[in-house]
Amino acid sequence: MKRNITCIVCPRGCALEVEINEGKCTVKGNACPKGETYGIDECTAPTRMVTSIVRVANREDTMVSVKTSCPIPKEKIFDIMKEIRNNEILAPIYIGDIVIKELFGADIIATKDVL
Ligand code: SF4
Repeated sequence: MKRNITCIVCPRGCALEVEINEGKCTVKGNACPKGETYGIDECTAPTRMVTSIVRVANREDTMVSVKTSCPIPKEKIFDIMKEIRNNEILAPIYIGDIVIKELFGADIIATKDVL
């Protein structure tokens, strides 16, 4: 099986050709080793950082932006978004605070202050 994907590790955006043959992955088109790693991961176990917002219960009409502490498996994105949507947190919140612990192997971290 062959897949053509774009490396998103840096702005250069190399066009990668990934071939998976009998469990062996070969990557062509990468200008650096990071592209090979990205191509293999993307075609065997794709992950993504997730960003979202969480309602701040003690501030009227206020949400805080959040992100996962690490990339999570792509197939878990809708599950993690659902869990985030069902949560509320209390201010004050500071950038870097863990606002939800251990969702699908990642913590959910605030990316802005709400004082
Ligand atoms: S292969 Fe290397 S140079 Fe090309 S986009 Fe990926 S990280 Fe950047």
